[in-house]
Amino acid sequence: MSRLLQDSKNFGPKVSTITKLVAEAKSLLSSANYLPENTLTASTLCRDELNQRAIDQLVTSWGPIFNLSGLAGIPSAGNTAFAAFSHHVEREKGKLLIIHGPHIGQSADGVWGEVKRDRMGSSSTACGSLCLALKQIAGELPPPSTANSYGGPESDWEQWVVYQSLYDQLQANKLDRALSITEATSLMSQIIHLQVEQRRRQAIPNECKVAILGGVWINTPHLNDDFFAPHYFSAEVEGEEQKINLLDQLNSSL
Ligand SMILES: [Zn+2]
Repeated sequence: MSRLLQDSKNFGPKVSTITKLVAEAKSLLSSANYLPENTLTASTLCRDELNQRAIDQLVTSWGPIFNLSGLAGIPSAGNTAFAAFSHHVEREKGKLLIIHGPHIGQSADGVWGEVKRDRMGSSSTACGSLCLALKQIAGELPPPSTANSYGGPESDWEQWVVYQSLYDQLQANKLDRALSITEATSLMSQIIHLQVEQRRRQAIPNECKVAILGGVWINTPHLNDDFFAPHYFSAEVEGEEQKINLLDQLNSSL
């Protein structure tokens, strides 16, 4: 484990490399008959190129991935995209795997919310969309729905959804608007999971079997791998139990 991640317990009891995550998740899913040959995978990871390395590892394991993503990892592609995804496997035999979660960078000197990108001389924000939403919610910058330079929500739709989703969650839970980036990232993990589950109920037929793996994706510099803190892992199965929780098994294997 990198020394950079010493305080990664912010995000849960276990943090693993993406390589190990992909291998262990694949093993657990295979026991529930989710196999690369019958399972189509979708991702909602933020559009940031930092996440491409993780997506490439998922593609190597599961094949081409349906992109449900929006900025900050919000599934802003919406119900039409979830429905289309569900129609791309055999209804009776096919399985669906949805991988989600916010991402956060950590710089070489251990600062959360920043990371040095390959073509830049110094660190920049990650997730930039979430950092921007925090400033918009704190009133340091105008919200995307009213910023004249953007012209309204429709011209900056995904950032508006990030801002509004975070704002609504803070209001609903009576939380302070002055969140740290690590607190906001953990909150976004909950928000994204709730939205993914809602899209699953609304847009994917009940008879489809769906597995969901979610958590925080951690981008680090100068390493050959990124990291993941699991928060959610379940698989719908045939039979009375209907849905099995795989999170404890995953955590104990990482
Ligand atoms: Zn991002």
